[in-house]
Amino acid sequence: MRIKRLPLDDKTNGWSAILAPRTPKPALVGDLTADWVVLGAGFAGLAAARRLAKNCPEQHIAVIEAGAAGENASGRNSGFAVDLPHNVGASLDELDGSHRFMRLAKMAVGDLDEAIKINDIDCDWSRDGKYHAAVSPRGLKQVLVPFAKELEALGEPFEWVEKPDIAQVIGSEHFTAAIYTPGGALLNPSALTRGLADTLPCNVTLYENSPVQEATFENGVHFKTALGSLRSAKLIMATNGFSQQFGYYRNRLLHLVAHCSMTRKLTEDEQKTYGVEKPWGMTPANAFVGITMRYTNDHRIIIRHGLNYCPNQRVSASEIAAVKRRHKALFDQRFPMLPDVDMEHTWSGFVCLSKNSAPGFGQLAPNVWSAVCQNAMGVAKGTFSGILAADLACGVDNPLIADIQSLGQPSLLPPRPFLDVGARGRLACERWLNRHEA
Ligand SMILES: Cc1cc2nc3c(=O)[nH]c(=O)nc-3n(C[C@H](O)[C@H](O)[C@H](O)COP(=O)(O)OP(=O)(O)OC[C@H]3O[C@@H](n4cnc5c(N)ncnc54)[C@H](O)[C@@H]3O)c2cc1C
Repeated sequence: MRIKRLPLDDKTNGWSAILAPRTPKPALVGDLTADWVVLGAGFAGLAAARRLAKNCPEQHIAVIEAGAAGENASGRNSGFAVDLPHNVGASLDELDGSHRFMRLAKMAVGDLDEAIKINDIDCDWSRDGKYHAAVSPRGLKQVLVPFAKELEALGEPFEWVEKPDIAQVIGSEHFTAAIYTPGGALLNPSALTRGLADTLPCNVTLYENSPVQEATFENGVHFKTALGSLRSAKLIMATNGFSQQFGYYRNRLLHLVAHCSMTRKLTEDEQKTYGVEKPWGMTPANAFVGITMRYTNDHRIIIRHGLNYCPNQRVSASEIAAVKRRHKALFDQRFPMLPDVDMEHTWSGFVCLSKNSAPGFGQLAPNVWSAVCQNAMGVAKGTFSGILAADLACGVDNPLIADIQSLGQPSLLPPRPFLDVGARGRLACERWLNRHEA
């Protein structure tokens, strides 16, 4: 099978632009074999490779990556490792589901924490928690109040933060109130994925800049790249939204594009004017109209705003330029005391969703397992999917496999063009109904 759509790195990722240059691992050259192949080096693929290496210390694991580590969605997101579910729900069943999800997410954040410490990965990882903020009294009532009740029901610690206090923490008067949760972590996602890729165990070989252009699924798998090929008995798919190209999850994955901008470093005078000393992270009550924001250790402000349907997984340079102008206007509204601060980097990335928010996890064929479709929370979800796909594939008895299986499978979507009309309409409706949260 010929792989028609390949990932494309437009070299705009701000998180990697602020790091020291890195030399990627060599591309796949020649005709090679391995006991296992992991396709994709995002959070899911890197977690799967690390776990396979541990489960099968005598076997050789190859990881094939189309681009360079730290440049994919895993390396260009907003940098929140979230350990709580987005929606908890009120019924006992939903509460039980939330507990299962939290067990998985906390395991993933703990696993990343340990990998960072053991391998001394410098990625600005901080366990300082985050603020979930509402702009309007309506957002407060519709989102924050139920969220607080859900956290209480789950027995999770949190703090209700009133307007003057949230203004003091983040230096903006734009928000009505917030809920602070102390779990989870903030990070530079490019530095973390690079770090994980550069510290893989010695029985793992990572091939970067090696897009798989042709795949054959007979007697194991056979992948062809521009310069070589790799045969393996067993495969873990960790290609997220590109999995359909390999014939899996057809008509089950939705592609959205998300946009981020990062300011230049604030000067010392600007830092004084801004008046906030500590880094912080804030997610919006409504992810479609609101803004995710961060203040980093090196005094930059990051904003993530805009989530649009993008079935062809491509964004043009003119769209990025328009996003940059929009982000600057949103920044000025929130931080009027910093009028001269420009967006130094603006970039986009793709998010893979399923209609029912279920992950693409499990065994797809006798020799193929999958850890895809992270529903926009891939730092934690990609990590636990990868770990558990490796355990499932190796027959390891891990009770968390039942937890992830209980999250279901991506449900079928309508065919295009009905899907396009429906998805665009649904997003427009979401934005209109929640416009008070802009
Ligand atoms: C702007 C933005 C902000 C976000 N913010 C957050 C956040 O704060 N917290 C959070 O948890 N999540 C966030 N997300 C979502 C998160 O980034 C993703 O869910 C996560 O990165 C998915 O990880 P993954 O390993 O499954 O996929 P990816 O990181 O996409 O990795 C899949 C890999 O497969 C490779 N691949 C695909 N096809 C081929 C091929 N033919 N040959 C070889 N390799 C191939 C790709 O190159 C890619 O590297 C955000 C996403 C975006 C875009």
